[in-house]
Amino acid sequence: MEINATIPTHRAQPVRIHRNAVAPVVAGPWTVEAIQALLDKPFMDLLFEAQTVHRQHWPAGNIELATLLSVKTGGCPENCGYCPQAAEFDTGVKADKLMEVDEVVRAAQAAKDAGATRFCMGAAWRAPKDRDIEKVSALIGAVKGLGLQTCATLGMLESHQAQALKDAGLDYYNHNLDTAPEYYSDVVSTRAYQDRLDTLAHVRTAGISVCCGGIVGMGEAPVHRAGLIAQLANLQPYPESVPINSLVRVPGTPLADSAPVDPLDFVRVIAVARITMPKARVRLSAGRQQMGDAVQALCFLAGANSIFYGDKLLVTGNPDVEADVQLLGKLGLNGHRTTTTEKEQTECR
Ligand code: SF4
Repeated sequence: MEINATIPTHRAQPVRIHRNAVAPVVAGPWTVEAIQALLDKPFMDLLFEAQTVHRQHWPAGNIELATLLSVKTGGCPENCGYCPQAAEFDTGVKADKLMEVDEVVRAAQAAKDAGATRFCMGAAWRAPKDRDIEKVSALIGAVKGLGLQTCATLGMLESHQAQALKDAGLDYYNHNLDTAPEYYSDVVSTRAYQDRLDTLAHVRTAGISVCCGGIVGMGEAPVHRAGLIAQLANLQPYPESVPINSLVRVPGTPLADSAPVDPLDFVRVIAVARITMPKARVRLSAGRQQMGDAVQALCFLAGANSIFYGDKLLVTGNPDVEADVQLLGKLGLNGHRTTTTEKEQTECR
């Protein structure tokens, strides 16, 4: 039986719901104004709505534990203002060449032995060359051979490169939009927003699942946070995985002196990501070391259901494993390992 209801008025288009319906899946479109209105809701109302949406689509208390390996570190020609791997910033990160297959297999096997089901490989390239794709394809094949799902984040891809990665067995590709289009040039000047969207389209066309999110705390205005969520939520379909990062202010990067984000504002972004992308894994990503247990708990309440697990992300720190085990235990949450999921990370991508 249909009842004459719309929910809620912030959605760009009213949604008719049926009595006994589980939950309407809203695939957009979302306006920036509608998302801004969500961000501005009374905090408790916003968290209540986000947790309600979360429980309609996900089992309560289930947290994905993702891990990530940097297979090619540093020396990147891009100038992402948050990233310690950019060659032009003096951050102390040493540039390494691509790891050999046997090294990666050892790491993947160790991840599998620790319970991982998915393994993510990150490389600090602007855009891989075809010969790089060949080498990474060998890594993907080897990791796949261990019975793990595979994920990669390699920078911008051409369509034939995305297809080659798919053919090699790649399951997920991470490529973050970082922020709203209007603020993008304040963060990076060596590429355009459309470049990111093009790569995401190539990945989708190749049949690879998408991991795509952004970073909060780079000096952006609230409207830019709304703009980022609008971009993500309006992708058709929206990403399977949405990493939300809190900027890790690394000395030597241009954004090192950014004002810290208000923790409650960060929680709001998590909540709005959950509401607008109900079936996505929303990953609480970089910046957890600075948050403390209470803020992380609020993020879980707001709908985050994935974290990076392990002492290091790509080159920045992460809470140690024991601290995460204790936190999840204190909160009564059930972590399950999947080495990177739909991954993403913090230094970029
Ligand atoms: S975020 Fe990625 S693309 Fe940007 S500088 Fe770092 S490694 Fe390069």
